[in-house]
Amino acid sequence: MKTVIIGTGPAGITAAEVLRRHDPDSELVLLSTEHEPPYSPPAMADHFLTGRRDTLFWKGEDVAARLDATELRGVHVVSVDSAGRQVALSDGRTIGYDALVIASGSRLHAPLPGNELTGIHDFKSLDAARRVVAGVRDGSVRSALVVGAGFIGVELSLLLTELGVHVTVLGRRGWLMPRVLDPETAAVAEQAVRARGVEVVLGVPAKQFVGDGAVEGVELVDGTVLRADAFVAATGVKPHVEFLGGSGIDSDWGVAVDDRMRTSAAGVYAAGDVAEAQDRLTGERYVHAIFPNAVAQAEVAALNILGIDTAYAGAESMNSLKHLGIPIVSLGAMEGEDKLQWRDGDAMRTLWLTDGRIVGARLAGEIRGAGVYRTLMLRRDDVRRYGTRLVDPRFGTGDLALPVLMPELARAG
Ligand SMILES: Cc1cc2nc3c(=O)[nH]c(=O)nc-3n(C[C@H](O)[C@H](O)[C@H](O)COP(=O)(O)OP(=O)(O)OC[C@H]3O[C@@H](n4cnc5c(N)ncnc54)[C@H](O)[C@@H]3O)c2cc1C
Repeated sequence: MKTVIIGTGPAGITAAEVLRRHDPDSELVLLSTEHEPPYSPPAMADHFLTGRRDTLFWKGEDVAARLDATELRGVHVVSVDSAGRQVALSDGRTIGYDALVIASGSRLHAPLPGNELTGIHDFKSLDAARRVVAGVRDGSVRSALVVGAGFIGVELSLLLTELGVHVTVLGRRGWLMPRVLDPETAAVAEQAVRARGVEVVLGVPAKQFVGDGAVEGVELVDGTVLRADAFVAATGVKPHVEFLGGSGIDSDWGVAVDDRMRTSAAGVYAAGDVAEAQDRLTGERYVHAIFPNAVAQAEVAALNILGIDTAYAGAESMNSLKHLGIPIVSLGAMEGEDKLQWRDGDAMRTLWLTDGRIVGARLAGEIRGAGVYRTLMLRRDDVRRYGTRLVDPRFGTGDLALPVLMPELARAG
């Protein structure tokens, strides 16, 4: 049995580990466009600030050898022939497979006129991030414009600021991280981001990148042109699906998968940022591009390849923002029939409920009990009996935790 895995991000390397754990003899081939060992993208900021390698190369720099896998770095899959069961590489080679895992992840982009100009960076990969940081280190990048105020745009704005760069982050909507945060929680985050020295420009959409060959500025819809030494595109997640054209594998925004992470082609699975999987709560197909989903989907894909029938529970929408100086957690939706809120200065907790069930939570400054809310939300427990205690920071801790963690006891009592 030979499995080819396109991508060695969290999804690809997890699939490889699970396959090897259950089958010591199968052949594993790992393909990556990058030139370094498999790494964890969330650890990049810490790596650039501290030089630490152990958290970045989270599986060990020798992981491919340890898994007895053939690892090809710096290679691009350019097409997949799902009928003939082979992938073609940009250097002309073809590699056959019995099973294929598409774990090619995603990049960040800014779908604006002029985005083909040179000098627009994508901070999604280590190779790309190293190029920006090299400019900072050699003094050619003293200012940066980050186009896109989403979760990753904000995170890399903070990193570049910490490295001494003057950063402006540009958001189309009137508040930061609009996919992740409601306006009120985002206002708390914005205060923290500004306090760290990041310039924040919100509510004035970018119209286009301007320049002659190389990017020189970003023009906003009001005609203002913002200039900087470096530009980073970070408005949206774009799964790497281009090489699937003509492959017979259905893809739209991402690769369509069922609850076994199977694609429309026999023997072909997809996992991670590239996969459009079902949302655990809403059932809608969506690309929830976060680390825990990538790992969980890869495990399911690998187990099914091994013939261990395993269903995926569904992707979750959750984020934990740790680098702002104030902890923020987001879970699920940002609307519901009812809203409960607790506030003390900058600390704020908001829950949304529909039919007496938690459908979403945003916690800033006071994040105790986030795991309990997640459990209640996923279990779809009716939480009306807790009343406003539900949003209290002590909920889920001490004796208030009992009814949540041991519901049978609470019902009996
Ligand atoms: C700066 C940053 C911070 C983040 N912080 C968090 C966080 O705090 N929490 C969280 O949950 N998530 C975070 N994320 C998101 C998280 O890193 C991703 O969800 C996760 O990396 C997805 O894993 P993946 O394996 O699907 O894809 P990726 O990590 O994108 O890996 C894709 C792999 O596919 C390879 N590849 C792509 N195209 C081809 C091709 N044509 N041929 C061969 N190989 C190919 C690439 O080389 C790479 O090896 C962060 C991301 C970034 C960039």
